[in-house]
Amino acid sequence: MDQAKQFNLPEQPRDFGFFVDGKWVETGNRKLVERRSPAHDVLVTRVTRCTVEDLDDAVAVARKAFADRRWAGLSGSDRADVLLRAAQGIRARVDELALLETLETGKPIAQARGEVLGGANIFEYAAGGARALHGDTFNNLGDNMLALVTREPIGVVGLITPWNFPFFILCERVPFILASGCTIVAKPSEVTSATTLLLAEIVSEAGLPDGVFNVITGSGSEIGQAMTEHADIDMVSFTGSTGVGRSTLLASAGNFKKVGLELGGKNPQIVFADANLDDAVDGVIFGLCFNAGQCCVGGSRAVVEKSIAAEFEKRLKEKFAKVRIGDPLDPRTQMGSIITTGQNDTILSYIEKGKAEGARLVCGGGAHAAKVGQFIQPTVFADVTMDMTIAREEIFGPVLTITTFETFEEAIEIANDTIYGLSASIWTTNLDKAAQAFRRVQAGRVWVNTTITGGPETPIGGFKQSGTGRETGIYGVEEYTEIKTVHIALGGRNHWVA
Ligand code: NDP
Repeated sequence: MDQAKQFNLPEQPRDFGFFVDGKWVETGNRKLVERRSPAHDVLVTRVTRCTVEDLDDAVAVARKAFADRRWAGLSGSDRADVLLRAAQGIRARVDELALLETLETGKPIAQARGEVLGGANIFEYAAGGARALHGDTFNNLGDNMLALVTREPIGVVGLITPWNFPFFILCERVPFILASGCTIVAKPSEVTSATTLLLAEIVSEAGLPDGVFNVITGSGSEIGQAMTEHADIDMVSFTGSTGVGRSTLLASAGNFKKVGLELGGKNPQIVFADANLDDAVDGVIFGLCFNAGQCCVGGSRAVVEKSIAAEFEKRLKEKFAKVRIGDPLDPRTQMGSIITTGQNDTILSYIEKGKAEGARLVCGGGAHAAKVGQFIQPTVFADVTMDMTIAREEIFGPVLTITTFETFEEAIEIANDTIYGLSASIWTTNLDKAAQAFRRVQAGRVWVNTTITGGPETPIGGFKQSGTGRETGIYGVEEYTEIKTVHIALGGRNHWVA
């Protein structure tokens, strides 16, 4: 049976306009961005290459929607109702959203479904955030004074999201921004825009006032850059590479906009000799292969105690061979394709670099054979020292380095020997050792005896060059607020001029 019939590959690409002021705007005579499925090399979607004028129009709409308080002026309870209905809308369209996500990203369909449903779950959590958000009072300033500390929505938020988790990362931001009362202009990656556009429709149908959530599509270097420089955007939330994160920070200086950044990582998996080795091996494999290694919190550096390194390597190699790589539309697939030919070339060039720098190849080492599409074998390098490029730079693909240590201090030193600080995993059965390690490791998220897990209740974000600010949890709502202090004089004024 041919692939198209077997797994529902669409016969026609789906066309999208863009979404501003509660309505679809047709592409008209603007250019198109065509997206081919990276796993099948079939044209699957066409979105609009918006212009900077389109961005300006969308920002003006979002500004008006913020200024007239059609959203910010509602109670938290009313905002929560919209977010809860949006969660229902996401669940109702899970099949459509998951299919588009898989076609555009090449990620396994079972994973895409999980991410869409996870997105609905985040909306439900954030609805509570709209109601829980509150300030503070100072009733200890004497009988003639009362002070309030209030939180207000920051204003118009420009939201720039990447291609690795287009829907899930969006859902880690949008409902929190909306819970705070802000308005949004979002720009998804031009290779994965479909589900962001559909989310705008879903939230609009859930009762969000027009103009509160707008989506502009197009390239990062044009629309994204213009967004970071825009004088009428109050905050930019950017998720992507550390390089563009830096340029976002620089561009923000024009109007001193607030910037939230979630950037790269080179995340350690510290495996102590007393770990449950089968669990650690499985966790390290999952942490590397999840989303084909294109995951900012993926654990790409195994830091392993020397006495168990040989056994760890042996079990790792055996289990890697069992990972099911292939057509992401096959519900049994665990690891799909790489997002673009550019990213594929980047990963392959790092693999070659690892070989050239003298690291020892344990398994993998190149492309995974397929009739169409771009896939990479999970690749493990051992005898990796911290001066090697593959140990220092974010590869963003299924490439693992193994570096050994002999003492606890050495393990921490290796784990922290990076410009990044996004996440870390610690594998040990000794709770004291785990606690000492998670206290010392420099990372925004630490997992003990597990990896890449969590829920919307807890905050995410990075130390060092992995970013600034925090998303999700109640912190994720507060992130999009300004703090205002109000002093109220009581009981008449003690006059300054007699
Ligand atoms: P980018 O940082 O270029 O892309 C992330 C987002 O930023 C996309 O929406 C992109 O739009 C947009 N963008 C691109 N250029 C600009 C700009 N000048 N101003 C504002 N926005 C911009 O990542 P790449 O796609 O180039 O991936 C390169 C590397 O970045 C990866 O190998 C990985 O290391 C890292 N990365 C990290 C991610 C994370 O989750 N932390 C996610 C993605 C990448 P568009 O795609 O339309 O150009």
